[in-house]
Amino acid sequence: MRQLIAGNWKMNGSLAMAGALVNALRAAAADKALACDLLVCPPATLVTIAAHALLGSPVAVGGQDCHAKASGAHTGDISAAMLRDCGATHVILGHSERRADHGETDAQVRAKVVAAVAAGLMPIVCVGETEAQRVAGEQDAVVAAQLAGSLPDGFAGVVAYEPVWAIGTGRTPTEADVAAMHAHIRRELVARLGAAGAGLRILYGGSVKPSNAAALMALPEVGGALVGGASLVAEDFLGIARAARG
Ligand code: PEP
Repeated sequence: MRQLIAGNWKMNGSLAMAGALVNALRAAAADKALACDLLVCPPATLVTIAAHALLGSPVAVGGQDCHAKASGAHTGDISAAMLRDCGATHVILGHSERRADHGETDAQVRAKVVAAVAAGLMPIVCVGETEAQRVAGEQDAVVAAQLAGSLPDGFAGVVAYEPVWAIGTGRTPTEADVAAMHAHIRRELVARLGAAGAGLRILYGGSVKPSNAAALMALPEVGGALVGGASLVAEDFLGIARAARG
């Protein structure tokens, strides 16, 4: 399966910035030099304009979160159906910043995944251990518990392994540690979902940049990258995309 390089803009971006960035991605994707799939996940205010600017291009657009309900009295929230209506095809769910800033639990993430699938979105579910948990050797158990709690039965989306301590820090796990965790996640997915679990993409996220992308993307069971900071600069994001496998 082609690798997926997904950009998580987080709470960054303006109309001007989004226009320039997606136009650069659109142009790069059009020359067919890229072997991977590309996805940008701007803040909710920019999903519509990004989707509009990328209409007819192979670059997909996603949201960074959605509510578990389809509509109703939930001030400040947006639903999966609203994202779909704006042209999104994917949604990131359970990012560690959502889990930390908003106290999102595995059960809430699972409910959001169900809502996303019902609305026709491809969910990208984030899991990953904190630094203290890794130092204590608990990373496998932590990630297994997150997968068990966050994925509904029959899950057919994308999993992103994002060690919390590697996000936005410039630090990454060793290649051996990434490979070991991706193998662990694969085993958990197959145990839970059977043969279907063998075909799901598992992205790596956490300080991916052009200089480390080729080594990370070459590891077994790495199905692409979820990229934060480097996704805000077209040349950096495209540098990562060029390192991806087809
Ligand atoms: C992320 O936000 O999902 C992420 C991986 O961020 P960064 O690439 O900046 O570490």
